[in-house]
Amino acid sequence: MDKNTIAIHYGYNKDSNMTMAAPIYQSTSYEFESAEQAANRFSLKELGNIYTRLANPTSNLLEERIAALEGGVAAIATASGQSAIFYSLANVAEAGDNILISNKLYGGTVTLTIHTMKRFGITAKIFDVDNPTTLEALIDDKTKAIFFESISNPQITIADIDGIVNIAKKHKILTICDNTVASPALLNPLEHGVDIVVHSTSKYISGQGLALGGVIVERDGLRDFFKDSSRYSHFNEPDASYHGLVYTDLPFPPFSLRVRLNLLRDIGATPAPFNSWLLIQSLETLHIRMKEHSRNALDVAKFLKSHKKVKNVSYPGLESDSQHEKAKKYFPKGHVSGLINFDVEDFDTAKELINKTELFSIVVNIGDSKSLIIHPASTTHQQIATDEQLKAGIRPGMIRLSIGLEDSADLIADLKKALG
Ligand SMILES: *Cc1c(COP(=O)(O)O)cnc(C)c1O
Repeated sequence: MDKNTIAIHYGYNKDSNMTMAAPIYQSTSYEFESAEQAANRFSLKELGNIYTRLANPTSNLLEERIAALEGGVAAIATASGQSAIFYSLANVAEAGDNILISNKLYGGTVTLTIHTMKRFGITAKIFDVDNPTTLEALIDDKTKAIFFESISNPQITIADIDGIVNIAKKHKILTICDNTVASPALLNPLEHGVDIVVHSTSKYISGQGLALGGVIVERDGLRDFFKDSSRYSHFNEPDASYHGLVYTDLPFPPFSLRVRLNLLRDIGATPAPFNSWLLIQSLETLHIRMKEHSRNALDVAKFLKSHKKVKNVSYPGLESDSQHEKAKKYFPKGHVSGLINFDVEDFDTAKELINKTELFSIVVNIGDSKSLIIHPASTTHQQIATDEQLKAGIRPGMIRLSIGLEDSADLIADLKKALG
């Protein structure tokens, strides 16, 4: 099935009411037919609903569709992108372990991995995503995951996915790719050998800034990957918190199963069924929207590139962009999403320009149908020290645009006026 068709039809089996829109199962709990059935559900002898913290039919439909769109075998929906990222890492790493993270990441992921997870005894070591050979020197027996973004937010760098995956495969280390900015419509990292994809569904998948959410998608074949691995022994040894269950002995995708049975059970950053339902509606138009976001962004990037007050424009769709070769490789259709960065003289000039635009809203979010503008150094990356900011490619005069679905001529006219 083509992705456009999957996004609209996959996984929805109508009940006798024959509703065209998938129903919202707004319920915390589910009745068991008998005491035996209740026991069987808990012991996994029978799969089925128990409690919405663990699973919900509306969220399950969202999970199945996103898994299919990414080419994975299973997915877990979470309450936010941040919880998806935390779960994907906490599912493999524990106190004493380390994770390798790209030097170009979303601000929330930087604070989560460098500061918050450190307090749980998990160390983050930073590698240069533009030069994956730097990974090799960082890998040791306690390395549990390599984490990067396919298109980084806000630096707009495209990862050398093949380079990262080759090194990870050589050392048998799990790769986790945050595919939020590209969305499953433009890129499927699992096809390039990545093991786990995570998304903040709050961005392009939602598309109108309506619902927070996240998702973790697992590739086929992880049972074999974990089976005899001493690095990932908690997947192939009995889990004391689940009466001795061994994940790789069960006929289910082990990574997702462990997120559900451990992390959703114990921490519970589960999506509200209503949010999952909103995201199911949004998925139907994702492919059309991503094409338009990309076309509009290319128009705006070309305009900015030609403007004398603009110092530097990052948009991988521009032929002159440092990321263009990677864009051609990983985004062969030429659609590279809706984020643009550009620099003006300094922070004050940036602030003035942001205040002068009328069509652009000053918003931290990305991926909305409405165009958004922000100054990363003083907002999304404010909690990070200035030298860490510069290392992460956040400059004082840099402005990030998330190009929406308005007419590009109107967006260009607005920026032209604001630039003066
Ligand atoms: C927004 C974002 C996140 C965090 O997602 P939330 O849904 O806001 O928790 C993670 N990664 C990237 C690339 C993002 O843009």
